[in-house]
Amino acid sequence: MNSPLWSSIVKTLTPYVPGEQPVGVGLVKLNTNENPYGPSPKVIAAMAGVLDDTLRLYPDPTARQLRQTIATYYHLTPEQVFVGNGSDEVLAFVFQGLLAHGKPILFPDISYSFYPVYCQLYGIEYQTIPLDEHLNIQAIDYSSPQLPPIGGIIFPNPNAPTGRVLPLDEIEKIIKAHPNTVVVVDEAYIDFGGETAIPLIARYSNVLITQSLSKSRALAGLRVGLALGHPMLIEALVRIKDSFNSYPLDRLALAGAKAAFEDNEYFSSTCAQIIQDRALLTHALSQRGFDILPSGANFVFVTHKHQSGLALYQGLRAQNVIVRHFNKPRINQYLRITIGTPAENAALLAALDVLLAT
Ligand SMILES: *Cc1c(COP(=O)(O)O)cnc(C)c1O
Repeated sequence: MNSPLWSSIVKTLTPYVPGEQPVGVGLVKLNTNENPYGPSPKVIAAMAGVLDDTLRLYPDPTARQLRQTIATYYHLTPEQVFVGNGSDEVLAFVFQGLLAHGKPILFPDISYSFYPVYCQLYGIEYQTIPLDEHLNIQAIDYSSPQLPPIGGIIFPNPNAPTGRVLPLDEIEKIIKAHPNTVVVVDEAYIDFGGETAIPLIARYSNVLITQSLSKSRALAGLRVGLALGHPMLIEALVRIKDSFNSYPLDRLALAGAKAAFEDNEYFSSTCAQIIQDRALLTHALSQRGFDILPSGANFVFVTHKHQSGLALYQGLRAQNVIVRHFNKPRINQYLRITIGTPAENAALLAALDVLLAT
């Protein structure tokens, strides 16, 4: 479909397709890596505390208090912290403000499928770097002499949808090899097992880290994401923000996000529970004939020795269990399964047992 009323850019876009958000009840929803435990009760209380007539006032455009809280949490300064409306918005600003240099940018062939969408939106050329045969990122591939001059590098760590973790010393090699280029580490899943690259900020002015409150802090519905890096990189994002929307975070989001970073106990215990349940689910799936990639995220990426990925996806869907299947080269035999509550994980296994018995 196409309309003469559309701008020329709109005609060229192939938008990102998010995972299904079904409306029915009774579904076991393990398809979009949401946190099964919900946000800290202190987050809800903090938001309720600002639900009053101050809503007539604009929120703080600089999100000063939230940035200070995040800076304190990570031993940074507020000038090293940017916040936005979900890390997807932060990433959009990153692509427009730091990766668009008229040269191709690099990211893995199997990675977050929003990256090529931003490239298209902002007219950024890109080149994908294949993961190795074990679906790992190889740092060396990002500094091969065969590469053209590049405009930037971005990859998730842990990677999505594989869940595989890249060790910090490998990340440092990539950053070191490109001192005049921004290297973005998308740490949407870092709290479930990877080692954060935040300590590298003190030594490298070209590393930018993005994080999300959607997964480990169970606030996908609130839409808060952040970027951490050298003040000069943060300033670029602020300039984009203030040329687009001065108030990406509303008063409720500012209060809720701040409280989320202040309740470390709830955060640590829910993350630990998910990590423990990931180990249990990994074991149970391997007993059922699945190969499971080692995961540092709140999901596992699995392929069955005998059954097709699509058939399993459809068979689970028919039993009201929703997982993610990507109809893409190299990974079309895989399922990405979010770690749910123990009861949800048990329901998944029961549904799989039905499929695998026939
Ligand atoms: C979920 C996800 C995001 C987006 O997170 P939001 O903060 O909800 O926008 C970014 N990158 C990766 C790799 C993700 O999986």
